[in-house]
Formats: sequence, C-alpha cells, structure tokens
Amino acid sequence: MLLSFKNITGLLDHFKENQTCIEYLEQQRWNGKPVCPHCGCEKGYRTKTGFRCAGEGCYKKFSVLVGSIYENTKIPLRLWFAAIYLGTAHKKGISSVQLATDLNISQKTAWHLMHRIRESMKDADSDTQLKGTVEADETYVGGKNKNRHKDKKIPNSQGRSMAGKTAAVVGLLERDGKIKTFVVPNTEADILHPIIEEYVDKDATLVTDAYTSYNGIGLKLRHIVVKHKDGGYITKVGEYKFHTQNIENFWSVFKRGYIGIYHYMSAQHMSRYCDEFSYRYNNRLLSTQDKFEIAVKQASGRRLTWNKLVGKEK
Ligand SMILES: [Zn+2]
Repeated sequence: MLLSFKNITGLLDHFKENQTCIEYLEQQRWNGKPVCPHCGCEKGYRTKTGFRCAGEGCYKKFSVLVGSIYENTKIPLRLWFAAIYLGTAHKKGISSVQLATDLNISQKTAWHLMHRIRESMKDADSDTQLKGTVEADETYVGGKNKNRHKDKKIPNSQGRSMAGKTAAVVGLLERDGKIKTFVVPNTEADILHPIIEEYVDKDATLVTDAYTSYNGIGLKLRHIVVKHKDGGYITKVGEYKFHTQNIENFWSVFKRGYIGIYHYMSAQHMSRYCDEFSYRYNNRLLSTQDKFEIAVKQASGRRLTWNKLVGKEK
C-alpha cells in the first residue's frame, strides 16, 4: 500500500503493524536490492526472520535495522515513526518530556530517541558550498537570562561575550536556499573566516552586519555590510536590497525553541540541536510526509549508541 498521509493519524493508520514498518524501511533503504550491512555485497536473500548474506566468507544474518538508528531498539517502529513525524513537523521541535508523555515511554528513552532522530536529520550533503547571496551571522545560545534578546543591533559592537552562554553558533544562509550551522569555540575572525571560505562559493556575495570579526573577508569574496537605517538593516545596491533578516529569523525560531520547548541544551549536544533546526528550515517548503520520509531515509546507515551519545565512546 502506497504511503500517503497528511497528519499523525494518517501516519499511524498506515503503520499499524511492525511488519508494515519493516517493509517500508526495506523499500526506502534498498529499493528491492538488499545490501549486506556487514560486507556490503548485494547477495542477501530473504529468510523467515530477515535476510542472510550469501557473500563469500560472510554468510551473516541481517535485517534492515542493522547499522541504522533503530538497531537493537526495543521501541516499536510505529512509535519511532511517530517521533520522527513530531520531530520533523513541529516547527520548534518536541522536548523529551513531551515526547515521553505522548508515546508513553520514559523520558530517558525519549531523550535517546530524539538524539538518534537528530542524527538522521543531519544534512546529507553538508560539503556543498552555498552560492548567490549568502547571509552570515553568529549567535549565542543558553545562559541564565533566557529571555534576553540577542545583544546585537549595535554597529561595530565588541560586546559579544560568551559569558554565561552555553555555546556560540555561526550560521550561513543561502538566499532562497539552505542554512548551515556550526558550533564554534568563539566568534573571532580566525574562526569565522575559514568557515566562510570553506562553505561559501568564492563567487557568492556575503552579507553580514558590522561585527568586526567579518572585517577583511572582503579580500576573499564580495562582502556587503548592512547598516542600521530606517529601523531596519538594509543596504541597497542599485535596486537590490541586502539584509540579514533570513538568518535572524532562523535564530529567532531556534531561540523560541530553546526558551519555549527545550529550556536547556548542553554544549556537548548543541550541534545536534543545530542539525534539527537546520533540517526543518532546509525542508521548509516540503510536505509533512516528505519531511518525514527524508529523515527516515537518512536514518539508514547512521547509528548513535547510548555510549556514544553520553560520551563514553567515540
Ligand atoms: Zn555480507
């Protein structure tokens, strides 16, 4: 049966049985050609309980769950799918406390579940350079004064201190395209410039505010600095208006997620939260079903064990 849903009821109606979930994952991952996760060959054949590899010297059993975020899970797959739906469809995410209540699982289980789902939300082509008009901006996440607004809007401000904050994050946002985020130790020029050079096409136009760490980047690519004017930050070049409003909107959603949903994000896991918010931004124009299906597809071949998550294992 073809998968087609518009809401969580439709999703759960479709995935009633575990076997339906398994068959869906097999189709998503292999498209009819099972690949042995142990040796990589395509000589898997179906057995009563899953697959066995006929590759020379391998002969191992496997299922579609091996090597994916679901490996060794005790949680029914339809609950996994419900969690992926909630994590990809809700604009500001879902907390482990809320997910635990919604799915009737423990908060610890929900927390591990969501971090594995964030693993599947990681950008699959993270190496591609951004082109055209690219906004760059940095922000600080965390801190005690949760309602404090971003200390910006002051041209040439030197006062972007890490004091009391959990992490600094740099974002690069392609106009009408995607965002890339990076958790950084600080926002000095020697941190920001290499990131920009690596991830922004040299023929692109970089737009930033007047923060001093961007000084000198104009030697590497076209750099427009937007300045405070008429209550907004817009620099006009001919008829073209340059601004950094898209990335500021992204930070605003991120921070509302932080304040209203998560309340806390540790520095250790900050990049996963960035992956989560970036995923939703980058797929913002897709249907809820597509947002769900891309995450499910990316979950194959990605694992995140508990020990790795809590830092006991690299
Ligand atoms: Zn094999």
